Amino acid sequence: MPKKQSIIYPPSHCPTCKRRLLPGELIPVISYLLAKGRCKGCKTAISPLYPVMEGLTGLGFVLVYLRYDLTWETLLGMLFVSLLSIITVADLTYRLIPNKVLLLFFLLFLVMRFFWPYGDASYVAHLIGMAAGFLFFFLLAVITRGGMGGGDTKLFAVIGMFLSPTLLFLTVFLSSAFGALYGLFLLAIRRATRKSMIPFGPFIALGAVTAYLYGSAIVDWYLSFY
Ligand SMILES: [Zn+2]
Repeated sequence: MPKKQSIIYPPSHCPTCKRRLLPGELIPVISYLLAKGRCKGCKTAISPLYPVMEGLTGLGFVLVYLRYDLTWETLLGMLFVSLLSIITVADLTYRLIPNKVLLLFFLLFLVMRFFWPYGDASYVAHLIGMAAGFLFFFLLAVITRGGMGGGDTKLFAVIGMFLSPTLLFLTVFLSSAFGALYGLFLLAIRRATRKSMIPFGPFIALGAVTAYLYGSAIVDWYLSFY
């Protein structure tokens, strides 16, 4: 989408030699390993981001199933993992979060959460989560004068809608913590300075998945200290 290409036509192909992929080359992770990471036509190296993200998306699907079993929530959870996986790739590769993707998942969750709200949350709670996610980051973007991107603001609105307020705030906390730890790590090994920009999307994705899968356990654990 960031390259202004259709996601349907032309079908999957090598971006270098344009050769269309054969059915056997469309198997996630395995095709990459069999081809030893190179296009069978022009031998150009394929980015390891493909098998890594395919593997992580598959792992996310399995974890969602283990957490929510054969329920509608598992279907919703797999869509959520898909959204976060797309966001991660787009932010890492193009430093942007595509509006069309956000809009598609926003509409899906808006309808699906009406029928299948999360746990004992009400539909209104999901709408409040959406408003909270948007407003909090909108204000942050204004205060930091664009230090936080508009894409992050819209993404948090979609995440807030999906998760409802409690898990949204846990997501904000976890993604900031993950991002800060990574920043400190880069500073420590001198790969970054205090002025460096790091894409926040992958940390939002990691925080959101963690909150979604283990949030209630984390909140219970935290409250046990009081
Ligand atoms: Zn090729």
